[in-house]
Amino acid sequence: MTAQTLRGDVAVLVPAAGAGLRLGPGGPKALRELAGEPLLVHAVRRLCAAASIGQVVVAAPADSLDAVRALLSAVAPVVVVAGGASRQLSVAAALAAADPALEIVLVHDAARALAPPALIERVAAAVRAGSPAVIPVLPVIDTIKQVDDAGRVVGTVDRAVLRAVQTPQGFRRDVLVAAHAAAVDEHTDDAGLAEKIGVPVHTVDGDEAAMKITRPADLRLAELFLGSP
Ligand code: C5P
Repeated sequence: MTAQTLRGDVAVLVPAAGAGLRLGPGGPKALRELAGEPLLVHAVRRLCAAASIGQVVVAAPADSLDAVRALLSAVAPVVVVAGGASRQLSVAAALAAADPALEIVLVHDAARALAPPALIERVAAAVRAGSPAVIPVLPVIDTIKQVDDAGRVVGTVDRAVLRAVQTPQGFRRDVLVAAHAAAVDEHTDDAGLAEKIGVPVHTVDGDEAAMKITRPADLRLAELFLGSP
């Protein structure tokens, strides 16, 4: 397979340094296989199929850098850096290595290995159209309740105003840099950091195929998405 040339105006940071303990034993999650290929390869291949992408920076487990470089060399010319102790630190490490000439930056979890190119383009296009921060979202289908420490229900949240958030999330580069520079505590996504510094965050439609592969059953579901047209 020949590595693809990237020509777009968007850098994408791929945090892929998580241990993936909830997936059960078997090494870093991004290197677990789905239909014979590591999740990270699935994710990067879809990113590179999106015309907007000009650079891919992967934050990999520090002890797997060479293995990850070797895996991805046939897919695209990817920059691989060591990730950190948390997702947020892994994103910050990748951001420090990204090409500063690319003024739109996406952040995409390797665990959302099947996010389709159309979703990646939708997020990039919304940033290009003027939104400083953009997240893909889906409606919440479960009833959500708030509970106290003892597990007693405190209240029921109106799910009509809730959204489940996916990646890739998109940012103007200066916004993402400022959000990470101001970070004082851990967030599970980058839009959370942007919110903290008062940046308006816009939403676009997410995609069910961009599900996060976290638990063993998610791998089975992802196989179904792979098999569907
Ligand atoms: O653990 P969680 O499911 O929130 O991880 C989301 C993404 O962040 C995964 O792609 C994982 O590999 C990545 N991550 C990372 N560095 C860490 C922890 C998680 O890059 N220290």
